[in-house]
Amino acid sequence: MNQLESNVLHSFKMVKSDIIMMQDTMTQLSQSQERIMEMLGELRAQETALYNAMKAHKLTTSHPVKRTRKSYVASKTGKSVHTTNCPFGKNIKPKSKVVFATKSKAFNAGYRACDCLKRV
Ligand SMILES: [Zn+2]
Repeated sequence: MNQLESNVLHSFKMVKSDIIMMQDTMTQLSQSQERIMEMLGELRAQETALYNAMKAHKLTTSHPVKRTRKSYVASKTGKSVHTTNCPFGKNIKPKSKVVFATKSKAFNAGYRACDCLKRV
């Protein structure tokens, strides 16, 4: 075997081992990918569980026990008193907002009830 043949043979061996290594790497990659997909699946399951838990939590808290400490808001420049949930009440600028602990305190101050109070 002359030098050239030996070189070529050596190169082929290198290439072959490269290919084998690449195949190994590919196998490892696809195994990693499978693991990642598994983990993704688990994450999705956890996400769904979390989402459902949050939904259940919202469902149970969306109708809370009536708060005992309610307050009523009115505007210094307005004529009506609102619940704190009323859009009109929410619209009152903090500067001109008057807060009452009870409805009657607001009535005594000269305010009339907004529709939001009649609905409650
Ligand atoms: Zn109102």
